[in-house]
Amino acid sequence: MTAAASARQILTRLHEVMATRLHAQGKLDQVVDIIGECLSSEVCSIYLLREGMLELYATRGLDAGAVHVTRMAIGAGLTGIIAANVETLNLAEAKAHPDFQYRPETGEEKFHSFAGVPIVHRERAVGVLSVQHVEPRRYEPVEIEALQTTAMVLSELIYNAELVDEEEALGLSAAQTGPHTVSGLTLVKGLGSGIAAYHQPRVQITQVMAEDTEAERQRVYRAFDKMREQIDNLSVQAEFGVGGEHEEVLETYKMFAYDEGWSRRINEAIDSGLTAEAAIERVQQHTRMRMREIDDPLLAERMHDLEDLANRLVRIVSGQLGTAASQGLRSDTILIARNLGPAELLEYDRRRLKGVILEEGSLTAHVVIVARAMGVPVLGRATNIRGMVREGDEILLDAGAGSAVVRPSASVAEAFADRFAKSREKQAAYAQLRDVEPFTRCGTRIEVMVNAGLREDMSALAMTGADGIGLFRTEFQFLVSATLPQRERQQRLYRDVLDAAGDKPVIFRTVDIGGDKAVPYLASDTAQHDENPAMGWRALRLALTREGLMKAQARALLEAAAGRSLYVMFPMVSEPWEFDRAKVMFEDQRAFLRSKKKAVPEQVHYGAMLEVPALAEVLDLLLPKLSFLSVGTNDLTQFLFAADRANPRLAERYDWLSPSILRFLRRVVHGTVGSGVNLGVCGEMGGRRLEALALLGIGFTRLSITPAAVGPIKELVRKVDLSELSEAMTLWLASPETDVRVALSAWAEERDIETE
Ligand code: PEP
Ligand code: MG
Repeated sequence: MTAAASARQILTRLHEVMATRLHAQGKLDQVVDIIGECLSSEVCSIYLLREGMLELYATRGLDAGAVHVTRMAIGAGLTGIIAANVETLNLAEAKAHPDFQYRPETGEEKFHSFAGVPIVHRERAVGVLSVQHVEPRRYEPVEIEALQTTAMVLSELIYNAELVDEEEALGLSAAQTGPHTVSGLTLVKGLGSGIAAYHQPRVQITQVMAEDTEAERQRVYRAFDKMREQIDNLSVQAEFGVGGEHEEVLETYKMFAYDEGWSRRINEAIDSGLTAEAAIERVQQHTRMRMREIDDPLLAERMHDLEDLANRLVRIVSGQLGTAASQGLRSDTILIARNLGPAELLEYDRRRLKGVILEEGSLTAHVVIVARAMGVPVLGRATNIRGMVREGDEILLDAGAGSAVVRPSASVAEAFADRFAKSREKQAAYAQLRDVEPFTRCGTRIEVMVNAGLREDMSALAMTGADGIGLFRTEFQFLVSATLPQRERQQRLYRDVLDAAGDKPVIFRTVDIGGDKAVPYLASDTAQHDENPAMGWRALRLALTREGLMKAQARALLEAAAGRSLYVMFPMVSEPWEFDRAKVMFEDQRAFLRSKKKAVPEQVHYGAMLEVPALAEVLDLLLPKLSFLSVGTNDLTQFLFAADRANPRLAERYDWLSPSILRFLRRVVHGTVGSGVNLGVCGEMGGRRLEALALLGIGFTRLSITPAAVGPIKELVRKVDLSELSEAMTLWLASPETDVRVALSAWAEERDIETE
C-alpha cells in the first residue's frame, strides 16, 4: 500500500468515527483503536490539556485504570516535552531519552519504542497523541505523518466538542514556554506593551478532512500559480524593494515556490483526504521536524523562508489575504514582521499600534523614520522573533534597552509598569520646555525644527514648540496613495500644512521617490530597473526627467502658498546644474501663474539638500544660488561609507561620530561661513543627543529632527557652552585615534548633560 493510500485509509476511518453520534469521549476511545491498529502499535494514547496538566484521556494498550488519572506537567516527561516544544518525538528506546518519566500506573514498562505528536490549536499544543511499541524501532516517516494528520483531526474534534477550554489553552502560554527575552537593535526608542500580531497573519485551519479531493487539488494548483506570480513580483514591493540581503531571500523564495518536491508532497497529502490548508500544514510540520533533526543554522534560516511561503500559500488558498492592518487591530498591539515598507506601516491604526519588532531593519530605513514620526517604538534585528512569539502572546517592548519580554511573568510586568510611569513623568517634564526658547548657556539661539510628512504630523509643532518644519517629506503622500496623487490633492495637503503651521516656516522637499521608497505606480521608473536603487533613478534625478510630476508639484506648492512665503528644497542634488534646472521649472510655473493673473507666493526661497558627497566639493559654485542648505545625514553617510542605509547587516557597523563624518561635516560648515546661506541638518543624526552635541560642537545651529526628540534636544542645548564644546571637538578631531563617542560622553557626563 502506498503512503497516501494508508493515510487515506486512516482518514476514511476517522471520518466515519467523527460522523457517528458518539459523544466526544467515545470518539477518542475509537480513535486510539484505529491508530493502534493501523500502525500495528500495542499502545496508542491521547493526552489533553486540563487545568494546566496533560491528562490521559484515552488509551489502547496502557492500563485502563490510568485514564483520567495519569497527569503530566507541561515540560515534564516525553509527553510534556512534546507539548512544551510543540514538536514531534520519534524514539526507538523511550527510556534512553533524558526526559523519560516512568509512570507505574500505566504499565508501560514493557514498551520500548515511542512516537508522539502535539495536538495543536492556534500554534499551541493542547494535547499529545502518542504510540508505543514493544519492539525497539523508530517509526517510519509515513507512520509519523499519519499521526500528525490524526492530530489535526483531533484538534478539530477537541474544539468542536469543547474538550479543552480555549481560554485555558491561551492562558497557558506562559506555562508552556515561559517568559522569554528577545534582544535586538534599538531603532526607535520607547516603551510599549500589547498583544503580538503578525503583519502577515497566520491562518487558523478549521477544516481538516476534505469533502472533495479533486476540488482541493484544484484549489492548491490555483494557489501555487498565484503564489509564484506574487513571488515574481515581490522585488518591486516595498518590503523587498531594497537590494543586498533581500536578493538572497527572494532567490530562496523562488527556489521553494518552484520546487516540484514541495508541491508533490502537498498533493500526496491531499490524496490522503486532507483539505488544501491541512495538506500544506501537514507537509510543513513534517519539514519542521526534519529540519530540527539536522540542526544547521543556515538551514534554519532557510526554514524561516519556507515557513513564510507556506504561510503565504495557506493565506492564498483560504482567501485570507489581508495584512494585520487591513484586518484591523482589535487591541493594543506589538506588530511583528520580517521587514516592512513605510507605506505598509502607515496603514496601521496609530492608536492601537504600540510597537514594532522587526527581524531586520536599520536606523535610517524609511519605515523606521516613519515609525519615529508616529511615535511607535521599534526593535530591529530580532533575528529569531518569529520562532519565539505566537500570535496573541503578551509582549512588553523596551526598544531603548534593545529588548522585549514575551509572555512576561507578573513581577516583570510590574517592573515594566513602573518604568512606563517614570517615562511618562519624563515626557511631562519635556512638555514643560515647550515654550522655552533653546538658547545655549553662552547665549546662542539654536533653531530646533521638526521633520514631518503627513497632515497629522503638524500637531507636533504646537506640542513641541518647535521653530517650524525643517523637512516636509512630500513623498509620504505618494507612498500612502494607491495611485499618483493629482495636483489638486497635493495642493490641498500643502495648504492644510501651511495653515496648520501659521507663522512658522515649512520647508517642503520635492518628491524623493526611489531607493527604499518605492511606489508601485511609478515602478517602471524606479527600483525595478536599478541594481542599486539608493544610488539610482530617484529623487531629483527622477523628477527632472518626469517633468510632468515636478511641474504638477511646483504648481501645487506655488498655489498653496499664494500670498505667503514658500520654502522649496530639492533632494539628492549632485551637481549645481540640477539645482538650476529644478529652480527654472518652479520659476516657469510661477511666471505662468502670474500670466494667468493667479496669486503667487510673496517670496520663494530655494534650497538644496546635501546628501551626495560630490556636492560638498563645489559649494563655492552652489552657495550663491541658494537661500538655505540642509545636510541629509542619512543619505550622506550611506554614500560616504558606501554602506546601504537599509541593509540590516550594516546597521551597526559605522558610527555617526566617526572622524570621517565629523570632519566632512565640519568642512561643510566652514565652506558656508560668510555665504549668507542658512545651514542645517535634517537627518536622523540630529535627533540623537550625543550626535546633536557633536553637530553643535562643529558649528551647526539649526537642527530639524523627529518630534519626540525636541524636548530632549532643547534640554541639552540649554546646558551647553558652545565655545567650550567646539574647543574640545577641535582637539578630538585633530587626533583621529580618539574615540569621539567615548570622549564626548565623558565630557557630557562631567557637565551633567544627559546623553542616553
Ligand atoms: C536624509 O537623507 O538624511 C534625509 C533627511 O532624507 P531622507 O531620510 O528622507 O532620505
Ligand atoms: Mg535623503
